Amino acid sequence: MPVKAFEACGVLAGGASSPVRAGTPVGGAPFVQSSGRGAYAFDATGRRYVDYVMAYGPLLFGHAHPALTGGLDAIAARGTVFGSTHEEEERLAARLCAHVPSVEKLRFTSTGTEAVMSAVRVARAFTGRPLLLRFAGNYHGHFDAALLGAGASAASSTDLGSGIPSNTSADVVLARYNDLADVERALAGRENLLAAILVEPIAGNMGLVLPVDGFLNGLTVRARNAGALVIFDEVITWLRLGLGRAQGMLGLRPDLTAFGKAMGGGFPLAAFGGRAEVMRALSPDGDAFTGGTLSGNPFCIAIGHRVLDLIERDPGLYERLEAAGGRLADGLRAALHAAEFPATVTQCGSMVDFKFRAGAAASNYDEASAIDRKAFAAYYHAMRAGGVLLAPSPNELMFLSSEHSAADIDFTVALAHEALRSALR
Ligand code: PMP
Repeated sequence: MPVKAFEACGVLAGGASSPVRAGTPVGGAPFVQSSGRGAYAFDATGRRYVDYVMAYGPLLFGHAHPALTGGLDAIAARGTVFGSTHEEEERLAARLCAHVPSVEKLRFTSTGTEAVMSAVRVARAFTGRPLLLRFAGNYHGHFDAALLGAGASAASSTDLGSGIPSNTSADVVLARYNDLADVERALAGRENLLAAILVEPIAGNMGLVLPVDGFLNGLTVRARNAGALVIFDEVITWLRLGLGRAQGMLGLRPDLTAFGKAMGGGFPLAAFGGRAEVMRALSPDGDAFTGGTLSGNPFCIAIGHRVLDLIERDPGLYERLEAAGGRLADGLRAALHAAEFPATVTQCGSMVDFKFRAGAAASNYDEASAIDRKAFAAYYHAMRAGGVLLAPSPNELMFLSSEHSAADIDFTVALAHEALRSALR
């Protein structure tokens, strides 16, 4: 039977429900996916691509993993949403807290945006202060205070056209990632207004940017000295890097943490939590309101248990993910070397990235943005034409899953040799 090509009917605003999917930074027709299985995405013609988008992070176990998608009828048959709390919700909260010692109390949400937005509200309520310090190039979701100077191509200003009221900027201050002197500049004279420093402890929305030694610790000290809180946005990193990561990996203890993406295994499940004393600012104990019709729904909570089951029962998982990430990073290093382009490949577990800029890895958004965008677009299209799907924006990175095989990675690297040669010509 002939396969009918996808025809956009033009009703979907901007052509996609999240702008990055429109592929504007690379031009050309956006990728339209018809299905996914394991490490692969399929288009409408049935063509297979090795997928490194992995839905921008949640798919730690690839597409449609049987342990996450099998037997869903039985879960749904007990009810998909209650207007009441339930035992499994409390049990999942306890399981999460057991892995992340800084979290004594938590609340579930459906999206990472809600989780971070709620954590910011709790911090403001607890401290009785308005000011939020954030980092250019970090992304925390699409609430107003998060979008000023954000990464992930979401940067918005308070110009009227962005829909963000101008007074938002009165309570948000931006600093350069990995730059404690810039944090001090940004805060000077306003320390007593500071509610929280919000940070991606490992930044994944300006490509992959690792924190330099002392940066996160320095933030913690500055927040403490100002009487403010530290909020880690681990929406990407928790479970992708390990059961206690990134805070466990870095030996740090933020006051509040936001979780999302991988914890829901591809279903809408997220959470925020932290010190019990701080979380008591939340209604009904305190006055700070957060809630949600779908928050903590039994369907997604059941999936959250399945995700933790898969991870807890597989002690070798993170070692394998690390090895896969290392294989890809080494292969890309060799491909860049062969193309005589001295870019630095960055890897953290199953996250891999390089930029079309020569020299050391980017350490902040200014550096991460100073790239050859034409070369990136050409590389993206050459990879896609050859059967590898990358995110269509240089602000994203490559996500691996448990399902990416050595053969998938070697295929990707072989293709990268050709794609880099043609992109950098
Ligand atoms: N925080 C980080 C670090 C993210 O990467 C994202 C999503 N890319 C969010 C928050 C927002 O999550 P969601 O898209 O689920 O609202």
